[in-house]
Amino acid sequence: MRRGVADNTRSVNPPPPSVPTSATNTTKKQTVTTTPTTTNNNTNNKNNHSKKLLSPPVPGSEEEEETDISSSSSEGEDISWISWFCGLRGNELLCEVDEDYIQDDFNLCGLQGQVPRYDHALDIILDNDPLSPLPADMDGEQNNETESAAELLYGLIHARYILTHKGLNAMHEKYKRVEFGRCARVSCSGQPCLPVGTSDIPRGGSVKIYCPKCEDIYFPRCKHQSNMDGAYIGTTFPHLFLMTYPSAKPAKPVQTYVPRIFGFKVHKGVK
Ligand SMILES: [Zn+2]
Repeated sequence: MRRGVADNTRSVNPPPPSVPTSATNTTKKQTVTTTPTTTNNNTNNKNNHSKKLLSPPVPGSEEEEETDISSSSSEGEDISWISWFCGLRGNELLCEVDEDYIQDDFNLCGLQGQVPRYDHALDIILDNDPLSPLPADMDGEQNNETESAAELLYGLIHARYILTHKGLNAMHEKYKRVEFGRCARVSCSGQPCLPVGTSDIPRGGSVKIYCPKCEDIYFPRCKHQSNMDGAYIGTTFPHLFLMTYPSAKPAKPVQTYVPRIFGFKVHKGVK
């Protein structure tokens, strides 16, 4: 029922003109390209995901790695697009956005102008049958653009969602399970980290990892996570998170590393 309401609301707004999609997240875009799509309804979206996961990968490619981890858990299962997308390798920093949040048009205000093929992208995310059928002659490249648009739209919705009470709570659960990794600095003693973006504008930079202890940012250790757009997390998240959950904020490290040569401190004047 809720989907029906959301669909009707969306139909009021015409889709924005298509603009070229950039190739920020190449790993997943490549995965998408492997699947020739001929039809565009809800069932086929899910089928496409299955095909993507089961299609024979190019040996030695990143796609092969992604296929390996996904096929074991997703084969034959009927999962939502959101669960499927968040389960992809490299998307571990994302939480699953509540569908109720996505179906509320108020929460998506302003995103139409940022995402090409907005209506179709939203249909993909919500596993809806598209209201306006896609052109029958739509080629694989256009399908890939629509899938990329869905990814971008989900990322931008995600950045908003994780600043809400429910979203912060979902990210807190992931933080407690140390799903965002630990700081590599010795003096931080394995401090769990949080994801952060250096820009709120799409394609403004890849996602980074913020350590609440040393209060610095790092590249994710996982190269797949490095491909993710930082705008999917945003610049505000970790700091609002730590204000919301003060107990998650650790004390600053007491030890500092002192360089020594034969046991003597290196004099500051030595170059
Ligand atoms: Zn640290």
